Amino acid sequence: MIQISANCVGCGKCVSTCPFGALSLVNRKAVASNACTMCGACVSVCPVKALSLPATGAAKKDLSAYKGVWVFIEISDDGQTQKVRPVGFELLSKGRELADQLGEELCAVVIGNNIQPYFAELSQYGTDKIYAVESPAYARYNTAAYANAMVTLIKKYNPSVVLYPSTYIGRDLSPRISSELFVGLTADCTGLSIKEGNLIQTRPAFGGNIMADIKCPDYRPQMSTVRPNVFKKVATTPGKMAQIVNEMISVPAEASRVRIINTHMDPPAAGMKLDEAEVVIAGGRGMKNQEGFNLLETLADELGGTVGASRAAIDLGLKPKDQQIGQSGVTVSAKLYVACAISGAVQHVVGMEHSDVIIGINKDANAPIFNVCKYGLVGDAHQILPRIIEQVKNAKK
Ligand code: FAD
Ligand code: SF4
Ligand code: SF4
Repeated sequence: MIQISANCVGCGKCVSTCPFGALSLVNRKAVASNACTMCGACVSVCPVKALSLPATGAAKKDLSAYKGVWVFIEISDDGQTQKVRPVGFELLSKGRELADQLGEELCAVVIGNNIQPYFAELSQYGTDKIYAVESPAYARYNTAAYANAMVTLIKKYNPSVVLYPSTYIGRDLSPRISSELFVGLTADCTGLSIKEGNLIQTRPAFGGNIMADIKCPDYRPQMSTVRPNVFKKVATTPGKMAQIVNEMISVPAEASRVRIINTHMDPPAAGMKLDEAEVVIAGGRGMKNQEGFNLLETLADELGGTVGASRAAIDLGLKPKDQQIGQSGVTVSAKLYVACAISGAVQHVVGMEHSDVIIGINKDANAPIFNVCKYGLVGDAHQILPRIIEQVKNAKK
């Protein structure tokens, strides 16, 4: 919690500054509540320097000792087949750009059993090195075992940046590592870039109303999680083989506290997976009812795609929650994305803006969705869609 010294003169300037409503005046002195997130926004406004953040306990690091952009590669296992989750290739592609800007190596970290078959494909994304931790003990994901392996590697090789997929495993693993190393972690980044040697981690903040650029200038490594489909995968070095660095890391006793007795996989949802679909027809509140969504289903069938929805349409019960596209739903990266009667709120746009061709249909010519569209149709979606469906059917004849 923020520290308030006896110097406080009760001017109240800090109270209105706190974005979390954590400060109040009691008997003409500032008092902080548990709502304080230690964001530090109030510190500079105090005219008598009565506010300070507690010392972190971690010594400042020699940043020049940290080199290399690392990507944690997740191996997915549906009980029958194992493969590299595609988000790993997306992160390597982005990682290559960052490594080039920093003048550093791009490295993949693979932990598991029988992992050699993945190395050739992982090498195609500009990967300079693959750190491989292989043992039957790592055959299944275990938080303590994987976190120990990552922390051991990071302490040995000192990377400057480590990227994780924002998947169930990435979200479970990365906070363990950040707390163990006492470094920051920015979740669900939608953009990554380099400025003055620091990683700029862009993500929606304050309910998605602003895009915040977050940097960690004093500590290393800088760590981020990124959702699938946020970055494009680009194989820049086909045929090239990365240097393989095998590491033997024993599993800590702590890992045996968790025993996986059984694994239950939900059967795949009927139809195409939204985050893998090349054509997505999405509907918003303006589609109004099931009849409106039937038009979207028909167009999706004709184009070989699938149907998604904005949160407002989900809230109306027009689609199940797992078909929601956006900040608190799925991120898609389709070849064609048709947004029907969707306003284009930033929380929706962050989940679809990386699609190749975006078409918006909206009766409001000023709807924000048109800012991200390649083509825009202004009019009533209930009238426009049947005409598009008819044209598509005719074109197929
Ligand atoms: P509206 O904003 O109501 O827009 C409807 C649009 O349809 C309007 O532009 C209107 O002009 C148009 N329209 C109406 N009738 C017709 C018609 N007949 N023909 C053509 N156009 C028509 N939203 C998401 O989608 N995904 C998320 O993951 C998400 N996460 C969120 C997370 C947080 C923390 C918060 C605060 C919000 C989140 N939201 C999310 C909600 C988001 O802010 C918007 O409220 C939501 O996207 C609006 O959905 P909509 O565009 O369908 O509805
Ligand atoms: Fe509020 Fe941030 Fe100050 Fe805490 S540090 S009191 S959250 S402004
Ligand atoms: Fe006290 Fe400083 Fe806050 Fe004013 S700004 S109320 S002096 S802590």
